[in-house]
Amino acid sequence: MPDGHIARKRFGQNFLHDRNIIGKIVSAIAPKPGETVVEIGPGLGALTQPLLAACGHLHVVEIDRDLIARLKETYEPTQLSIHEGDALKFDFGNLPTPLRVVGNLPYNISTPLLFHLAQYAERVRDMTFMLQKEVVQRMVAEPDTEEYGRLSVMLQYRFNMARLFDVPPGAFNPAPKVTSAIVWMQPRPLAELRCRDAVLLSRIVTAAFGQRRKTLRNTLREWLGDADFAALGIDPGARGEVLGVDDYVRIANHLSMRDGLER
Ligand code: SAM
Repeated sequence: MPDGHIARKRFGQNFLHDRNIIGKIVSAIAPKPGETVVEIGPGLGALTQPLLAACGHLHVVEIDRDLIARLKETYEPTQLSIHEGDALKFDFGNLPTPLRVVGNLPYNISTPLLFHLAQYAERVRDMTFMLQKEVVQRMVAEPDTEEYGRLSVMLQYRFNMARLFDVPPGAFNPAPKVTSAIVWMQPRPLAELRCRDAVLLSRIVTAAFGQRRKTLRNTLREWLGDADFAALGIDPGARGEVLGVDDYVRIANHLSMRDGLER
């Protein structure tokens, strides 16, 4: 391991060493001086160094105390604002907007981290992440595919997303078992977000995909009866995976309207 640091599995540490890949990631981000760029998990600085060279100042969020000590030795406080602790608990609302969030994310917490970050979408300009390829495939999946699920619907509702390129295990030290991929996420404009109750949307989507083999009549029985399915034009015998993001938004809005009228 470079510089004698022993990679900690519990922190999902796979350090990038491939110069070509690092260059491609930084070019994709293209940070400029004056932008608020925050890197999650800077580690040994593989991305931090070239990002800093391009934009002059970075916020970083890192949990590993040994790595934090190294970062403090290597960089001036004028270059790096170091936020020590768990990115899952970090309040991104305290940083100046618009935020550009980047990182080679610790794979063990990638899904909860994406949901945590989605809460700050209004403050974000864009996010560029390295994730397991399989997770990126789920994020951008189309309905009626194996990969399509709660992660796809909830993130596609809030973000436009693009899978940029894949990264082989050999680009890291230690090499992970799986291929990775770079994903770019840009919050959709507020005017495009048609859901009246995002919490209800999340509950419906969680229920619809909780038991993938079951029909919507079963999984959504708490909310929808035959009259509701008929009004929505949705087949109650279908499974959750055939509905698009807009269908889930229509269901949530139908319920908000119906329950609002009943009150
Ligand atoms: N950016 C470096 C690179 O590309 O070589 C390191 C990437 S490594 C996959 C993930 C980094 O996230 C590590 O530095 C790890 O210590 C850090 N990390 C893990 N869990 C974290 C958490 N909950 N909050 C903040 N950082 C975390």
